[in-house]
Amino acid sequence: MNTDQQTDARQPGMMHDVTVLYVDGEPVAREQAVAILSRMVTDVVVAESVDQALECMRETSVDIVITDILAPALDGVRLIGEVRRMAPDVPVLLACGVEDTALLLKAAEQDADRLLLKPLLPDVLVLALASIVRSVELRRRLEAADGAVHLMMDTSPHFALLAEDGTIAYVNQGMLAFLGLSTYTDFVRSGACVGDYISELDGVPWKGGDDWIRSVIEDPLDRERMLTIPNLRDPARRLSSFMVAFKEFPTPGRYLVTLTDVTELEDEKRALQDEASTDPLTGAFNRRRLLDLLAELEKTSTHGSSKYSLIMLDVDHFKHVNDEWGHDVGDVVLKELTKLVQNNVRSSDILARWGGEEFMVLTPDSDHRRATRVAERLRRKVEGCDFPGVPHVISASFGVAQATRGESSSSLLKRVDEALYQAKNLGRNRVVLSSPG
Ligand code: GH3
Ligand code: MG
Ligand code: MG
Repeated sequence: MNTDQQTDARQPGMMHDVTVLYVDGEPVAREQAVAILSRMVTDVVVAESVDQALECMRETSVDIVITDILAPALDGVRLIGEVRRMAPDVPVLLACGVEDTALLLKAAEQDADRLLLKPLLPDVLVLALASIVRSVELRRRLEAADGAVHLMMDTSPHFALLAEDGTIAYVNQGMLAFLGLSTYTDFVRSGACVGDYISELDGVPWKGGDDWIRSVIEDPLDRERMLTIPNLRDPARRLSSFMVAFKEFPTPGRYLVTLTDVTELEDEKRALQDEASTDPLTGAFNRRRLLDLLAELEKTSTHGSSKYSLIMLDVDHFKHVNDEWGHDVGDVVLKELTKLVQNNVRSSDILARWGGEEFMVLTPDSDHRRATRVAERLRRKVEGCDFPGVPHVISASFGVAQATRGESSSSLLKRVDEALYQAKNLGRNRVVLSSPG
């Protein structure tokens, strides 16, 4: 390869720290161009073919490429395409004779940054290079500014991303480490995107891809957005929750997106919610939670086609159990009863402790026939169960009611309570179905 590197002492008007690659198949043209160029820039590298030019670019950091359009063994149009692929930011100037009109059109398609007429006149070249160098310098300044932004992002304890026109342009070190990645360059090379690591956006499973950035930034409602990502450091790969915030840079379309880890807060919130909706003795849902669920079902029952039923059960003569065997034994009976019911209903059926020794089973998608069958099964199981510390048979009475279309939850509760009352009156240890209306 013919590389003619010039590192002249700095002269006035000379463009410093700029490397120009000049590509031309003709030795004379090459010599003339080098003579002109080396008066203008500190480093000139020459090549006589596309392959040589590309090799040069791999070895040297080239700022500007000037290529002849067509010479023996040189296809300038192809070279533009190759340079665009290899170094999209490097400007390419195309030198050609006036007679090469067809090629000029092809070159225009390839989007050369500038066309120069051959033979190259020093004045024309100086003007063209000066403006190209200005854009090179601007790009370098932007790159330096980007470097500073990346550095600041890397020192942040939060996870941060740079988004440009809806795509991710940088991911900070903290976030990369969390995703099990070392450097941003490695990440880009792997072809993966941040969205592939996301499990849920606002509680909804995420399909992968980085559209989530647009969805967050362009959200017309000013909502609090939450992302969940599996935590690789956790042996169980539990999900970590992040609150997403963003701020636009002075450059439009450019955003700093931060993800704040709120996993602990979310866990606490969930624990509080669980606490507020479960019964501490038995671990079953409490009355409040059942009322909420019934209210939800009531809302859909006017237009929905699904049927649901309620079973209410009450331990017979429970006061006697307490009096005879002690309150603690009574507590154990309530806990055992909870397990027994849970083991004998569908996972979609919901057991709640209504209060004292009274329980409710809400059976979604079930008519009164299924609910009655379930109640009868439970009645037999209770009757047949050896409750620890109680040497006699314990039984329970059951009321069953199927919700009618549009029925309020208070009406349904009243009917199931009346059915239970009847079961008690009829001698206990039995199931009574409420007739609607
Ligand atoms: P019936 O067959 O008419 O239902 O008679 P019963 O004795 O079961 O009904 P009653 O309402 O007279 O008594 C309910 C008893 O349940 C009284 C109360 O002390 C007891 N109880 C309520 N909550 C608990 C609890 O958390 N633990 C224990 N051990 N007993 C409880
Ligand atoms: Mg009772
Ligand atoms: Mg009772």
